[in-house]
Amino acid sequence: MRRKYPKIGANDACPCRDGIKYKRCCKGKVDWQSLFANGNTNPYEYMSIRGKNLFFLEKIAAILQLDQLTGAPLATIKNALRDKNKIRDIHEALLYIWPNEADLNRVLCNEKEKHSAIFTGAYQPEKLFKGMCRHSLYAEKILLVDPFLYPGSMRPEFDPCENPEQHANTTLNNLWVWFGLMPWIDSGIVGFIRSPGDFDLKLQWDSLIYTENMVTKHPEIKECMETDIESFGEFRKRFKDVFDLNQPSSKLRKTAKEVYPEFSTEKIDEIIAYFENQRENSPFIVDPISKTNPSQIEMIHSGSNYEIAREIASRSNSHLITDLKTRWKFIEIDRQEGGVNNSGWEPFAKSMQNAKLETLNTTDISLALRLRKENRLEGMRTFLRKVWNHSPTVEDFNTRKTEDFTTEFTHELEIARVEWEKIDKDLVKLLGGGMGVGAIASAMVEPANWGIHGLAYAGTLGASLVHSKMRRNTTLRRYPASLFIGG
Ligand SMILES: [Zn+2]
Repeated sequence: MRRKYPKIGANDACPCRDGIKYKRCCKGKVDWQSLFANGNTNPYEYMSIRGKNLFFLEKIAAILQLDQLTGAPLATIKNALRDKNKIRDIHEALLYIWPNEADLNRVLCNEKEKHSAIFTGAYQPEKLFKGMCRHSLYAEKILLVDPFLYPGSMRPEFDPCENPEQHANTTLNNLWVWFGLMPWIDSGIVGFIRSPGDFDLKLQWDSLIYTENMVTKHPEIKECMETDIESFGEFRKRFKDVFDLNQPSSKLRKTAKEVYPEFSTEKIDEIIAYFENQRENSPFIVDPISKTNPSQIEMIHSGSNYEIAREIASRSNSHLITDLKTRWKFIEIDRQEGGVNNSGWEPFAKSMQNAKLETLNTTDISLALRLRKENRLEGMRTFLRKVWNHSPTVEDFNTRKTEDFTTEFTHELEIARVEWEKIDKDLVKLLGGGMGVGAIASAMVEPANWGIHGLAYAGTLGASLVHSKMRRNTTLRRYPASLFIGG
């Protein structure tokens, strides 16, 4: 028997949870009434990005049995993740929330009118949070590729549903990213999406091959990579720490005895106790010291490779933003190879890159969110909206007088600077208010990132059932809108 679902009013919040009224959202597009009435359908297939993200967070809270996600004690989360079924459940939720590529395309298509940016860059929480502060003050909405692995897109030995126990650390790290960005997700400024490569392994594979070929062909990319890797130095050190702490105490003891043969048993005990304490307090390590499975997968993540980011950008009509020199190099080379005349965009991009926006670097994540909610610096966003609108293609951009944009940008920048000075004065007042999120962000040390190695995909492609939908012959339409903001 069908359960009667209350009628959705035009002024009600849309059930897709995009945060706007039904009449301005899904009315006439999605029949929510019958979707809810018909229990056989997965309503999450029709959710907005925000709706899917919020549902995922709620699911995580239910799985980990947390009353609330903000301020959950580290020990509670770590303890919950010692149960491999919970790790599996979290990943299985992704299959439910993001069922197929058609669904991903639907949500990406919905972004077309929204002036979204797709961020492809460093994913260490601290860097990511900083990046979101900066970019959100001039981008309407920022899309991020979810760092959680999509089950079924990897070889079974790497699959988080098949082998959840070795994903304890990475799950913990990804939770930090999600929890830290929660208020941003809630306000609809940041949204996690899946990569089209999750559903199209051929696309994923082709993008890796393309990336590899580009690196071989253009030595300048390699140079950029080295600079980027240097900035990951901090994090390599963390990798080593995680590696050390992942060792069972018995093994650490053996090593300690070898390294310090002159030490007394008490002294060795002290060293081991130190390691055990570090392990217990590390926000990056769950406690993988199980006899059956001591290994943990650690990865470096930067959202998606350039090809995938480009693919997402063209499906959603978004512009690319990056803070990695390597990614920026890819964009430049791609433009050159596509025969794009950069003369129009370049002066504008340069003035944008060189803009003195340092204040944004030091903005606290909750303060940035507050400024955004109060519509501060709206002038800059309006101006950039205009740039994107007037220049959907390279040709359009070049026919406009670029100097106009550059002059206008300088003007907007001046207004923004005056605004910033005011904000600085208001800071004292703002700081008086609660700054809960900032506390979470600053309490976090840089956790392990993820990088997905081609190897992980190689096996799944053996039976290569899918045909890549990627067509590289079209140049990215919204070329001019790519931005590199370093720092
Ligand atoms: Zn809706």
